[in-house]
Amino acid sequence: MGKHLTTREEDYSKWYNELVVKADLAENSGVRGCMVIKPYGYAIWEKMQAELDSKFKATGHENAYFPIFIPKSYFSKEASHVDGFAKECAVVTHYRLKNAEDGSGIIVDPDAKLEEELIVRPTSETIIWDTYRKWIQSYRDLPILVNQWANVVRWEMRTRLFLRTTEFLWQEGHTAHATKQEAIDEAEQMMNVYADFAENYMAIPVIKGTKTESERFAGALETYCIEALMQDGKALQAGTSHFLGQNFAKAFDVKFAAKDGKLDYVWATSWGVSTRLMGALVMTHSDDNGLVIPPNLAPNQVVIIPIYRNDEQYEAVCNEAEIILKELRSKGIRVKFDKRDTQKPGWKFNEYELKGVPLRIAIGPKDIENNSVELARRDNLTKEIVSREGLDNKIDDLLKEIQNNLFEKALKYRDEHITEVNSFDEFKEILETKGGFLSAHWDGTPDTEEQIKNLTKATIRCIPLDAKNESGVCVFSGKPSEKRVLFAKAY
Ligand code: AMP
Repeated sequence: MGKHLTTREEDYSKWYNELVVKADLAENSGVRGCMVIKPYGYAIWEKMQAELDSKFKATGHENAYFPIFIPKSYFSKEASHVDGFAKECAVVTHYRLKNAEDGSGIIVDPDAKLEEELIVRPTSETIIWDTYRKWIQSYRDLPILVNQWANVVRWEMRTRLFLRTTEFLWQEGHTAHATKQEAIDEAEQMMNVYADFAENYMAIPVIKGTKTESERFAGALETYCIEALMQDGKALQAGTSHFLGQNFAKAFDVKFAAKDGKLDYVWATSWGVSTRLMGALVMTHSDDNGLVIPPNLAPNQVVIIPIYRNDEQYEAVCNEAEIILKELRSKGIRVKFDKRDTQKPGWKFNEYELKGVPLRIAIGPKDIENNSVELARRDNLTKEIVSREGLDNKIDDLLKEIQNNLFEKALKYRDEHITEVNSFDEFKEILETKGGFLSAHWDGTPDTEEQIKNLTKATIRCIPLDAKNESGVCVFSGKPSEKRVLFAKAY
């Protein structure tokens, strides 16, 4: 145990940072808060992208692309939006460099000052709604169902690889509708798409809910979210979908003529998930030996490693491995045959364990004799000798079982870490000893929420959509409350 890594028990946060780097997912760059996503990490992100993209298309959306720069004046048009994002905007002021006259190096050319400064997009509502004004005249132009894959910049003060970076990759959907109900339905639909993706593809159980006013997206009337629980008992916001009302249509004067000829402002939604999901993946499933990647997301679902003592054995084992490789590939299984003779089998075992490859096949001369292989599971670290006969079907089944097992394991942990608390003492005690989600009554005021946050660092993660009506009293103020909300310390 802990061959390569600090253990989770020793220092969870250090374990995470080490693992992301050692497993070749990403590394820090020369720019504070900005990361380099390495090929292995990017391959996993591409899997996420492909699945999400197909889900967006299946729900009628199309991809488009808008500029990275947004004129500063656009930001002043929606008051609460600028309030929310002003603190973390990167601003372009000049467009040229030159050699300093005193020979001291390259400087910004003071003569190349932009007339209007440009904001590097932290999110694209403003530039997109400025564009939609030109696209929308009548109800016939609606709905617009557009998504963009892009990078955004938010000048975060405390960053951590994947979970919170200054520049991150994401998708942002921006839709325009003729009616309020249609926009609400869209925002809810996309939250459900995210939840389905998180649970059935990433094997990460999530709670669907709405944000309180103080945690809501700047400019939204309602923010829907999916919240996940990490193995250290801290919550992570894994995705958001916003009902924006007519706020951006009013700010950018986007009106449409309804069937009866009446002019009205257009209704809007936006929704996004980011490379933060990579962090969620690591923090949900991985262990002290390295990454654990659900089969659906694994760039390689199976790795085959030859065991041999001499050239003759190497050749025989490789021949058999090539046959297995073909069999598995023809079943659509992503498999890698690591036949390098520059690394020992033991080294390879460690490497693929660290990288989280779901299944490992080891094949040596004995196995060829016995018509078998050794099969090792990454999720529960078990090994068995299995027959070559029907190996492809066996592996197919096992990959499904592993996917399912990872979800069930994470679900069990999550459910064991939702605790109902009924007093503020209990609240503080559970938060410090056990962590996780605290299901508690809250009086509905931002003031109480703020005070609890200042005293405990716990925030309201969401008002769960399935929260049942239950009269009670707020754990902090003692005032009446209709339902429980979920508090947690969060990333
Ligand atoms: P928002 O536009 O604030 O609703 O965020 C959209 C998505 O991006 C959410 O899923 C957030 O969890 C994620 N996100 C927000 N800020 C960051 C960041 N600094 N790094 C990575 N992901 C982020």
